[in-house]
Amino acid sequence: MEAGIVGLPNVGKSTLFNALTSAGIASENYPFCTIEPNVGAVPVPDGRLDTIQKYIKTQKVVPAILQLVDIAGIVRGASEGEGLGNKFLSHIRNVDAILHVVRCFEDEDITHVDGKVDPIRDIETIDTELMLADLESVNTQIEKARRTARSGDKGAKRRVELLEMCKAVLDEGKPVRTIKCDDPNQKKEIDGLQLLTSKRVLYVANIEEDDLEGTGPHVQRVRERALEEGGEVVPVCARLEAELAELDEADRQEMLESVGLTEPALAVLARAAYNLLGLQSYFTAGEKEVRAWTIPIGATGPQAAGVIHTDFERGFIRVEVYSVDDLVQYQSEKAIREAGKLRVEGKEYTMQDGDVCHFLFNV
Ligand code: GDP
Repeated sequence: MEAGIVGLPNVGKSTLFNALTSAGIASENYPFCTIEPNVGAVPVPDGRLDTIQKYIKTQKVVPAILQLVDIAGIVRGASEGEGLGNKFLSHIRNVDAILHVVRCFEDEDITHVDGKVDPIRDIETIDTELMLADLESVNTQIEKARRTARSGDKGAKRRVELLEMCKAVLDEGKPVRTIKCDDPNQKKEIDGLQLLTSKRVLYVANIEEDDLEGTGPHVQRVRERALEEGGEVVPVCARLEAELAELDEADRQEMLESVGLTEPALAVLARAAYNLLGLQSYFTAGEKEVRAWTIPIGATGPQAAGVIHTDFERGFIRVEVYSVDDLVQYQSEKAIREAGKLRVEGKEYTMQDGDVCHFLFNV
């Protein structure tokens, strides 16, 4: 699961990406993570890890991570090959969700590509490029699906229907993500068309140092915009976050207090992105490590085990589960077991957010 950062030039994408990814992830803990210059891993802060640690003594704590890609290069005309053009668009095709950075800070020293700060125009510029690319893709896909449908292929007929629905929305100048799907299957089908504007978007409003609550008129307009789409906005001051990321824990706390924040905005952002991707965590907790693992909402016990190792999914027998609340109440795993609160679940079990797990498997 991966989120891509997009935005016009000079809105603060690199500043934000560097701040997010400089938090010093110990890469030996994440062997599956590809680290390339524009790909980074961001820890997802989770207070439940601290809670577990209070009751289970451990050598190390490993948070969940979010993979981020910095997708630079979108400019007006990208869908026609301007800037990095199509290459840039193909990067977006590969991500699961989009973090769209919009400039809400005024600063005369930093040029805006369109001369003036206007977050809604910026959002529309980017959306237009993505919609134009989608229209092209939809038109090509419709032709193909129509040809296949003629031979009576039911799947192809359905594709034609879906593509026509997307085309109608795009023709109205709206992103595909604005289609209201009551049926989750339909949402899946639309996702399967691989369109850029069907991906979920989180707006990151890059705000000024002196408006950290994001009450200014620019942010307000982004909020209204997000509301119309059923989306979310996280206000972040990228410049401040970049400074915070450089400090050690004690200095960071001091600086946060001095500006009136309880945690870096990046923590809020990482969690919001994790939700946007439809992800949740479960924990394993032992002497060696207490660790959060990332799974899609709705994953089964064997699928969850498979995140640790593919062999564990195949050899899954059962899982013993308790909740962090159980741990707080009974104070040890032993006491949870004795109180009969340790649940034993089989292959059909749907994982709940925050389950603490022991897997039993054949290898
Ligand atoms: P990108 O082109 O979107 O990647 O933008 P950059 O991250 O390179 O930022 C462009 C310029 O804006 C740099 O000079 C940054 O220092 C500056 N910048 C980024 N975030 C902020 C911010 O929150 N406030 C102010 N005043 N300047 C910022």
